[in-house]
Amino acid sequence: MKNSEVTLPLVLIIDDDPTVHLWAKRHLSIAGFRLVSALNGEEGIAIFQTCCPDVVLIDVEMPGKDGFTTCSEIRRLPNGKNIPILMVTGTEDAERVALSFEAGATDFVVKPINWKVLMHRLEYMIKASGILHQLEQSQSRLSKAQKMAKLGNWEMSIADYKLHWSDEIYAIFEQNPDSFSAHFNAFLDLVHDNDKLLVIEAFEKALRNKTPLTFDYRLNIGSVDDRYVEQQIEMIFNAQNQLTGLTGTIQDISERKVHEQQVRHLAYYDEITSLPNRACFLNLLAKALELAKRNQRLFAVLFMDLDGFKAINDSFGHQVGDLLLQEVAAKISEGLRRSDIASRYSLDQHSSIDVARLGGDEFTILLNELTQPEDAAIVAANIQKWLGEITAIDENQIVIAASIGIAIYPQDGNDCEELLKNADIAMYHAKKAGKGHSQFFHEDMNLKVKKRQKIESCMQQALSNNELRLYYQPVVNAATGMIIGAEALMRWESAQLGFLPPMDFIPLAEENGFIIKFGEWAIREACRQHKQWQKQGMGYLTIAVNLSSSQFNQANFIPMVQAILDEYAVDPGFLVFELTETILMADTQKVVDALWKLKEMGIKLSVDDFGVGYSSLSYLKKFPLDTLKIDRSFVKDIPGNLDDVAIVKAILMLANTLSLHTVAEGVENEQQREFLVNNNCDAIQGFLFAKPMPVDEFKHYWQAQADNKRSETCGI
Ligand code: C2E
Ligand code: MG
Ligand code: MG
Repeated sequence: MKNSEVTLPLVLIIDDDPTVHLWAKRHLSIAGFRLVSALNGEEGIAIFQTCCPDVVLIDVEMPGKDGFTTCSEIRRLPNGKNIPILMVTGTEDAERVALSFEAGATDFVVKPINWKVLMHRLEYMIKASGILHQLEQSQSRLSKAQKMAKLGNWEMSIADYKLHWSDEIYAIFEQNPDSFSAHFNAFLDLVHDNDKLLVIEAFEKALRNKTPLTFDYRLNIGSVDDRYVEQQIEMIFNAQNQLTGLTGTIQDISERKVHEQQVRHLAYYDEITSLPNRACFLNLLAKALELAKRNQRLFAVLFMDLDGFKAINDSFGHQVGDLLLQEVAAKISEGLRRSDIASRYSLDQHSSIDVARLGGDEFTILLNELTQPEDAAIVAANIQKWLGEITAIDENQIVIAASIGIAIYPQDGNDCEELLKNADIAMYHAKKAGKGHSQFFHEDMNLKVKKRQKIESCMQQALSNNELRLYYQPVVNAATGMIIGAEALMRWESAQLGFLPPMDFIPLAEENGFIIKFGEWAIREACRQHKQWQKQGMGYLTIAVNLSSSQFNQANFIPMVQAILDEYAVDPGFLVFELTETILMADTQKVVDALWKLKEMGIKLSVDDFGVGYSSLSYLKKFPLDTLKIDRSFVKDIPGNLDDVAIVKAILMLANTLSLHTVAEGVENEQQREFLVNNNCDAIQGFLFAKPMPVDEFKHYWQAQADNKRSETCGI
């Protein structure tokens, strides 16, 4: 065979009639076909497997294996799937034609064969089969490429939201093409819950703007934790330029995401401790600064340097040094997570505490949304405590402490650099003070914290040393000036600190919980004093005792009060509890119940500093109140200040309407008193009559007034 002949198309003819082969040879060879002949089905199938023809002609009627069986067996062979097969039927009857197609024939031709027409038909069939073959090859290449790139293509009609997915998308989404109903809703079910909205919005945006877009999301397919895909959307327009569908690609980018995360981790996290590194910390700091500026909040930067780390490194080696750094990081992170301060921060979604390692043995801690600068000192003290818990590393005895510098935004700096620098300077000063010290950048803060620590340590003995006192300030009838009651105000005569007014220790006691014991003492002392005056026949005065909200929330508050009343066997009618608006605003069922209990017990309830808080009519109606105490700030400038005049008048009218008793606080002059009397204020309290006095002095004041009254009535 000449070489050029190999490229000529090869026709396999399977027919039991030898004349057909003769005619074929005559006509087809001339027309440029090569021929190979078989006289029955078995022979035809065997030849097909060895010579790979371009087209096959099969006679339907043959002895042995008939044409239909031969055709369907060829179709099942590896090369037989797409080969063009032409069935040759004796007569043109519909049943045989149908059977031919069922057996897998491409077409049929009727005997007697018109060889001239057949030639053209064969040429056309071979050409079409070649194109089909090429298409299949390129499809298989495409699907291989998609598989390698983990990328598939999709299409969606916007008429019915039905999807067409390539095999690779089915693989990425782990779905079976036969059972998956390819609809947009079914696709959405496979998207991670947290990303569903993002995907819906992306599709809506694409449809609205008719512009391509690309976005990432996670899948929810059970078998893997986080499978990320990147989806592209493009538009399909019809000839009239109307949008008919969307198309695009979906690529599995999970590996890329993992790599990105690794790269980010390397760039932003410290290798030894896994804490944020300097670059990351500066980002966090910048964000904290922006937030604090916007919300006008405080935050603190703590700069910590381990004491004696170099010596540890030198004597135990770098490996132990690294382990120590890890332990320090773990202790601080864990401690902050557990501490009260941390839980207070976690109440606010913007608050957070971040710990970072800047390098070497330097760590930084960022305290966002600080309530007060002093809290930073509490955190620093806690850190020192947690570091003290480290006693051994890798069986080496180690004692570790740190020097901590604290800078507060905004007072210690207005930008990241300045805050970090000042925290560093403060740390340097702490270092000079010795091991394990903390220092604020601002000296005033250091003094404040020292004073606070001193007060706190002395508080422990205040009760046992009997250092608390109640001072009494008269409450007088506004019109007559006659004393009707007293407010009991706490003082602390500390052996170490001297005389302290309430503002110097009550807010602190409220923070550290001492107020519970102090408050209980005040109630007991007022009852004891009342009992004593009763025994001495002094007459009857109400005594107002101030309550703090934490005290009020304590579980056994009511039984405790009852126990004190029982202890002194006093009639509870003399006792007034002054409540702050904060207590009332808590407005929980617990508060409502407790107030009614106190009322049932016979204790009077008064709202202190009325007007400065969130005074609301609703609580005045809801709670069983007896008295409103108008805050000093409104009384101070009456009758000159018209705004204050209006407010005080309104409060008095409101109280009269609700049948509440009124006391004006901080009355210092006659004009104020006159105004209050003219506007039906019941009682007043203030320096015009007397300051808060120690008990003996108060008793004299009271007695003197009673004596005066007696002599007046006796006409002396
Ligand atoms: P408060 O209950 O509003 O007490 C009135 C405050 O106003 C007292 O201050 C009193 O000395 C002052 N004051 C009275 N009249 C005048 C006046 O004419 N002019 C001026 N400028 N001031 C006047 P103090 O005794 O320093 O008490 C301050 C606050 O400390 C009290 O305000 C109260 O909230 C709290 N406090 C005092 N004792 C206790 C206590 O036993 N328990 C609790 N939880 N808080 C207490
Ligand atoms: Mg008060
Ligand atoms: Mg008050």
